[in-house]
Amino acid sequence: MTANRGSLIIVSAPSGAGKSSLISALIEALGTNRVQVSVSHTTRAPRPGEIDGQHYHFVSHQEFHALIEQGVFFEYAEVFGHYYGTSCQAIEQQLNNGIDVMLDIDWQGAQQIRKQVNDSVSVFILPPSSAELESRLRNRGQDSDEIIAGRMAKAQAEMSHFNEYDYIIVNDNFEHALADMRNVVASARLRLAGQLQRHKVMLNELLAEGV
Ligand code: GDP
Ligand code: ADP
Ligand code: 5GP
Repeated sequence: MTANRGSLIIVSAPSGAGKSSLISALIEALGTNRVQVSVSHTTRAPRPGEIDGQHYHFVSHQEFHALIEQGVFFEYAEVFGHYYGTSCQAIEQQLNNGIDVMLDIDWQGAQQIRKQVNDSVSVFILPPSSAELESRLRNRGQDSDEIIAGRMAKAQAEMSHFNEYDYIIVNDNFEHALADMRNVVASARLRLAGQLQRHKVMLNELLAEGV
């Protein structure tokens, strides 16, 4: 382990609650030398504008299963009939360089990460109402009516896991929610384990015998 390892920050929400927008805005605000997002593998088709390797690594079912066999994934889950997974490679280098890594993953993935990384931090984003959630999914204009209906039907199931998370953010006013996200990242940095590593020399000096 290096002297200054970054934090793993899990972000979950029902589809359309605004987690991708909040994560992008947070990275924009803090800079990629402070925080980055893990790029998952998925078997779902790219949406218009989504770039392979940037938003997701888009792979076939066959390729995904081969990667499972090879032990590439730190966690993976089936969401909305597609496979999604975080590879070890997507997070290790950044964490080792002291960069915080955001994981935009569902509740199943969150449970797997918590089991493996006991100092991970998790955040659940809630929309202000069901009507607003549906309207955001529609306004995003990226999914068919059928897909939107499916995602709304799954929203309740995803939201029923909110009480497994360390922090809850309501994304009503975007700027307020972004400020809350910044506070979560800042709080994660102030936890004892990280501060012990970061300030080793200073703590030795402060606590040295005879001071
Ligand atoms: P979104 O809900 O509009 O962001 O739609 P996406 O297709 O991008 O994501 C679908 C679901 O899969 C969301 O619940 C994501 O959090 C989840 N997801 C994305 N990547 C991963 C991953 O690597 N692992 C897990 N477990 N879930 C993921
Ligand atoms: P998710 O990644 O959770 O599926 P997105 O970040 O794609 O959600 O957001 C869904 C839609 O809602 C996008 O069109 C986004 O611009 C919009 N949105 C996000 N947050 C807010 C907010 N606070 N108020 C209004 N619209 C929002
Ligand atoms: P979308 O298809 O709209 O991009 O994402 C749908 C859901 O899949 C979201 O709730 C997102 O958080 C989840 N998801 C995306 N990537 C991963 C991943 O790598 N692992 C898990 N478990 N879920 C993911």
